[in-house]
Amino acid sequence: MTITSTTWARDSHDLFDYECRHANTKNFRTAADQNSIKMVRQGVEVRALTESETVPSDHDYLLRLQQRDGQFTVFPAEKTAGLASPKRLWMVVRDLATRGHNLNEGDIIKLGRFKLRVRQCNHTDSDSMAELRLDDEGSILKVDDINSEHLKTTPCKICLLDGCEDDYLIAPCACKGSIRYVHLECLRTWIRGRLNLQENQRGSYFYKQLPCELCKANYPSMVEIEGKRVPLVPIPKTQAPFLVLENMVRDTQVHSNRGLHVISLAENKLLKLGRGHESDVRIADVSISRCHATIRYDKGNFVLEDHCSKFGTLVAIKKNRVVEQGFPLSIQVGRSVLSFAVEDGAGGQEENQPVVAEGAQGPVGENSASSPRRSLMQNIFGASAPGSA
Ligand SMILES: [Zn+2]
Ligand SMILES: [Zn+2]
Repeated sequence: MTITSTTWARDSHDLFDYECRHANTKNFRTAADQNSIKMVRQGVEVRALTESETVPSDHDYLLRLQQRDGQFTVFPAEKTAGLASPKRLWMVVRDLATRGHNLNEGDIIKLGRFKLRVRQCNHTDSDSMAELRLDDEGSILKVDDINSEHLKTTPCKICLLDGCEDDYLIAPCACKGSIRYVHLECLRTWIRGRLNLQENQRGSYFYKQLPCELCKANYPSMVEIEGKRVPLVPIPKTQAPFLVLENMVRDTQVHSNRGLHVISLAENKLLKLGRGHESDVRIADVSISRCHATIRYDKGNFVLEDHCSKFGTLVAIKKNRVVEQGFPLSIQVGRSVLSFAVEDGAGGQEENQPVVAEGAQGPVGENSASSPRRSLMQNIFGASAPGSA
């Protein structure tokens, strides 16, 4: 197997600049009898260690490559005492042999430093109109008995009318006293107006749990009325195929603060993600390119593709990943990209290369026609010699 490492000279938010001209590139080749190697980095210098070597404390442990019965598998670094906690491994979409990644529910996409989770994939073979699933953990509001005596003289804080003869009075937030209660329909109307849920006829919209303007507590996403759970705000139907992408806000772990992009691909078949105004999912962040990535619907798959974005389109590797012959794989970990490729006729070449794990060093142009980072390296260095150290 050959490994090419490229490290961005700058250290910024674990980003890698795919357009950069100052990157440190190094090539490695595994020996046939090598079971496991550890890829580590000190500064911009990536090194390969054998299984028995310990990672020096001033190094970052990037990942581990295992060879067993001719099969290569990439694992995240193990937690090691004295070292920084291991970073997540991200698959580089632009370097895939297929150029695209078929999305599944639960996938985490990273664009620049912004993350989105694939929360729901609705294909055409399901209902032609379907709904966003709201299965929110623990934010279900039980509606009080409509006949309860004290509610008859309780005012709604929106319409100021007493009682619940026509509608349920609910206490959906942390407000106390006379502003505690609100009619379900009054609240629904207010939220619907704020969310603007019917933006177009295909039923694409952005959903977010809203906070109460007074106490700032989030309104629940579901209510339970007479034993039946329904969304607090009726959810519009969306034309399949559609995709639900969840914002993973960096500075909060609170689920309810994350918004949900519900986007139908029935008409367009192409969903645009980027900083530009024409984007379906618009992310105003400096690490996002104007047209960063797209998701198209093709033969039953939602295919994520990169659009030569500056900071890349990545998909989180959940556990580990097998590298197969003919399918080179690039993995970004922090500010390094490691590209793995299984060579043809494994075994024969190693005899001439009795090296342990480290092959050619320093800035390298192309030493192998099958180098998976070839296109990237051409992008980086063009025709001239690399100027990095
Ligand atoms: Zn009311
Ligand atoms: Zn409140």
